[in-house]
Amino acid sequence: MTEIRTIPFGRPIIGEEERNAVMRILQGHILTHGPECHQFEEEFSEFMGLPAHSVSMSSGMAALHMSYFHLGISPGDEVIVPAQTHNATVHAVEIMGAKPVFVDCVLDTGNIDPEKIDAAITERTKAIGLVHFLGIPANMDSIMEIAGRHNLKVVEDCALAVGARVEGRHVGLIGDMGIYSFYPVKHITTAEGGMFVSKHESTAKSVASKRAFGVDRTFNERKIPGLYDVVELGLNYRMSELQAAIGRVQITRLPDILTSRKQNFQYLKTQLQNIDGISHILDSNNPDIESSHYCLSILLADSIANERDNIVLELKEAGVGTSIYYPHPVPRLSYYRAKYGYREGDYPNATRISDHSIALPVGPHLERDDLDYILECVSDVIKRVKS
Ligand SMILES: *Cc1c(COP(=O)(O)O)cnc(C)c1O
Repeated sequence: MTEIRTIPFGRPIIGEEERNAVMRILQGHILTHGPECHQFEEEFSEFMGLPAHSVSMSSGMAALHMSYFHLGISPGDEVIVPAQTHNATVHAVEIMGAKPVFVDCVLDTGNIDPEKIDAAITERTKAIGLVHFLGIPANMDSIMEIAGRHNLKVVEDCALAVGARVEGRHVGLIGDMGIYSFYPVKHITTAEGGMFVSKHESTAKSVASKRAFGVDRTFNERKIPGLYDVVELGLNYRMSELQAAIGRVQITRLPDILTSRKQNFQYLKTQLQNIDGISHILDSNNPDIESSHYCLSILLADSIANERDNIVLELKEAGVGTSIYYPHPVPRLSYYRAKYGYREGDYPNATRISDHSIALPVGPHLERDDLDYILECVSDVIKRVKS
């Protein structure tokens, strides 16, 4: 047996440049919502390419809440959401008093099944709030076609999908608006933080105002200091200059991070797909899309599916960090189950992913030796539980 390693599932890449950037802000006088935020927004838009308009936010959740706040989603409205996603995708609808209507996912990618959307639409449906599951773009052609037919807005949760594209266009710019997250385990981090994006300049402008109390002019636009008006309802969801300064360094690392994740994913996938006991690896073979490879999620074959938690524990003992995306379909989480009810057998694909999958790391913190170690451990553990 090889020597035991300790491989975390994810680890932010923070270097000298990020530390210097934070110190540079602390030596100045503008601590929040200033030129760094503005620059970070510009640089994020540049990374996304046209027609991106970016608005820095205090978190991905804040950007999601802001999306539905901006759309004016309210009690009596319904929003189509995936059953398999981070709870934030759904909380953002729920917090507006609207009703989330869950739709199951397809098993190959974990993304919302467009064929099941039509049946969930009623005359109260106002929007589709989808996630690009683990960085794999959802089937946007079908979703946009359905949205167009029913006159629905489309909100894209791209928290794990920075760099992901459909026919060359970045996710978040296909629907009406999208959100990104810079929480520490995401592709790039600002500790806490997020970005709202839209292909519509007017949407981005309006959201920029609403995330700063709805005031009619920024600090720099005030000819008479202290004088401003409030033209609409808003919140304080601003990003600080410290976070933006970290983000500006992080975004320069992003191309390398994406390349490294893709290579690690392909390396692991090539070898894992031959292991008996793994039913399949969540991925898309659509040549028109580019995934951002957040992690590599394996779905266990039926014969060993019930051993999932034991496999995870054995991998943990061997030092292999794993995770589960996501541990429950959202409608099975206690809050949603109590409010909307949940029956065993609802959303079978989302349930199968929650109960029978394991997410393996592919981040840039992994060396080739780590990947080989992960492969050896996964293969050994699966062999053991099968016998
Ligand atoms: C992390 C995450 C969020 C929430 O982002 P925060 O920045 O942590 O608020 C929302 N959706 C998905 C899919 C996520 O992975």
